[in-house]
Amino acid sequence: MQQRVLHTAKSACPHDCPSACMLEVNVLQDGRIGRIAGARHNTYTLGVVCAKVARYHERIDHPERLLYPLRRRGPKGSGQFERIAWPAALAEIADRFSAIARRSGPAAIWPYHSGGNMGVLQRYGLDRLRNPMRYSRQHTTICVTPAESGWLAGVGKLVGPDPREMQEADLIVIWGGNPVSTQVNVMTHVARARKARGTKLIVVDVYRTPTVEQADIALIIKPGSDAALALAVMNVLITERLLDRDYLGRYTDFDAEVERHILTRTPQWAADITGLSAAEIIAFARLYGQTRKSFIRVGFGFTRTRNGASAMHAVSCLPALTGAWSERGGGAFFLSFDKKQWGLDTSLINASDAIDPSVRILDQSRIGAVLCGEGAALDGGPAVEAMLMQNANSATVAPSTAKVLKGLARDDLFLVVQEQFLTATARHADIVLPATMFVEHDDIYYGLGHTHLTFGPKLVEPRGEARPNSHTVRELSRLLGVKHASLALSDRELLDHALLGGGMASFAEAAKVGWIDRALSFKAAHFLDGFPQPDARFHFKPDWRRVGPGHGVMPRIADWSSRYERADARHPYKLVCPPARNFLNSTFSQTPTSVAKEAGPCVRLHPRAARRAGVSEGSQVRIGNDRGSVVLGARLDAGQQEATLIVEGIWPAEAFRERRAINTLIGDDPVPPNGGAGFHDTAVWLEPVACP
Ligand code: SF4
Repeated sequence: MQQRVLHTAKSACPHDCPSACMLEVNVLQDGRIGRIAGARHNTYTLGVVCAKVARYHERIDHPERLLYPLRRRGPKGSGQFERIAWPAALAEIADRFSAIARRSGPAAIWPYHSGGNMGVLQRYGLDRLRNPMRYSRQHTTICVTPAESGWLAGVGKLVGPDPREMQEADLIVIWGGNPVSTQVNVMTHVARARKARGTKLIVVDVYRTPTVEQADIALIIKPGSDAALALAVMNVLITERLLDRDYLGRYTDFDAEVERHILTRTPQWAADITGLSAAEIIAFARLYGQTRKSFIRVGFGFTRTRNGASAMHAVSCLPALTGAWSERGGGAFFLSFDKKQWGLDTSLINASDAIDPSVRILDQSRIGAVLCGEGAALDGGPAVEAMLMQNANSATVAPSTAKVLKGLARDDLFLVVQEQFLTATARHADIVLPATMFVEHDDIYYGLGHTHLTFGPKLVEPRGEARPNSHTVRELSRLLGVKHASLALSDRELLDHALLGGGMASFAEAAKVGWIDRALSFKAAHFLDGFPQPDARFHFKPDWRRVGPGHGVMPRIADWSSRYERADARHPYKLVCPPARNFLNSTFSQTPTSVAKEAGPCVRLHPRAARRAGVSEGSQVRIGNDRGSVVLGARLDAGQQEATLIVEGIWPAEAFRERRAINTLIGDDPVPPNGGAGFHDTAVWLEPVACP
């Protein structure tokens, strides 16, 4: 029976997606939620959300949702559990954590979070347990660290022109992103610009995405070659005098040495590396150089390679050459992730006063190496004997899956997972705790792809015995005897403290509106008073030492680095694993409509490559390298370079014929200079597989 809509409430998407949409949620008479739409009156979201979130009721009321705490009663990974009560679960966790800390020291316990929920409280609040207890810390690297490193190298801070200004651009370049599938609102702004001003859209990517299909000009390059393209564009800007020397002199460290270096990076040089023709590169450079109001919307995809940080840096140099940074509708935007811009006082939420800098920091992306006890990954400390994981499905999402699974299956690892579904990771847990979904708790989210703090208040009662992550942190801290001011405060009070401490409205007030716009002034966003670097200049010659410990291998002047996983005779293909439109990492891989629309894991390969390998449309192929191999269906597509293979989406292992998921093939060596995983930087072989 159709339920009556009780009211429509403001909310915010909690997922790991830079769109960070502001939402309108229909709350139904029976306490469930109905349709979810984008907030119409927000000038960034503009009423648009992706289909997977619009049908969120499928996820909240999914029959397989975790509703009660569970204790393992079969072998790890078997999925055999018994129901227990919350107090018993928490008491057991506290007892085991205390015993391990007494025996091996607190650093043997590693609280771990990832981006399953991006809430200021429900994600980062795990530090409220970690810091006072001196448990191992986390270097959060799995998502944007290489991109962040490259941006910081040139620009200096994770800020930039307001992405709403795309509507005022005459040329938009979407570089290494697929917003049609993953950041829908970007395309709304692009569409408005095209309609109002005839704005041209250029898309740079490694395969024909739905965004590429909308482009006026598409540049499909080889994976790992983005910096070469950027350098060659710079070369043309110089040789054809399309650069703004006044701007360069006033705002950047550009000098004769930089110029000489760029003059060696010709379109012919880049043609070989990128797989484009020199003519295509020159045409792009001319259009870019002749359009003062050019806006580059920089994605993350192209930076998830071992040379990704230098690629991001090279791309960010382009508007410095033309002076486009100083124009409304000009410059480049990557991410808003500057604490000062957001202005929240998160000291209580994170118990940041309790941080002990001597406690080791473990790399989130290297969870497999950490759990398998690889020396360097342990940073000289003890083996990890216990974990509390929230918002994380590392068994599917982290690189080097085989290592992760081996580590999670250790009998001497006490694993607690708070989750919404019995994921591959949760199946390895000793205790599973059911987690609330975003409309069942209060939180604040950073609008990473725009400038708004967004608010998601509790709208409905939690299903079953699901509890917020913050409940676990608070109750466990009490049982463990943590003394911290934050423990006396409710979730609402913690969020109020963060907002009021930053001079903003209370949570209740802000949630009524749905967002607070924290946009910088035009001058600050466009760096008109200088870039946020010590010398106030954009850096073509970055000081990589300030960015990360792996600075020694970074190019001294903006450049393409050949230090990435190169194809060779044994591994002639480059594998890229971008997001699927209907999933978000491994989230939504349980929702029936998403699964039906994605229709199973498959590898896209160029018809010429398929012919050479003896593979036909729909047949099974094995792709592999020294890390392992996976079997999946083949789909022929000429929309990529011949040696590029594309596997979209992070499907669970059971979706693959041999029950090994795609990240089995991905390496976990840290991307220099500051870590991250080379998710799109994998050399592989491919062979046909006979039908079973
Ligand atoms: S586009 Fe991204 S932020 Fe917006 S609703 Fe979908 S997942 Fe959430």
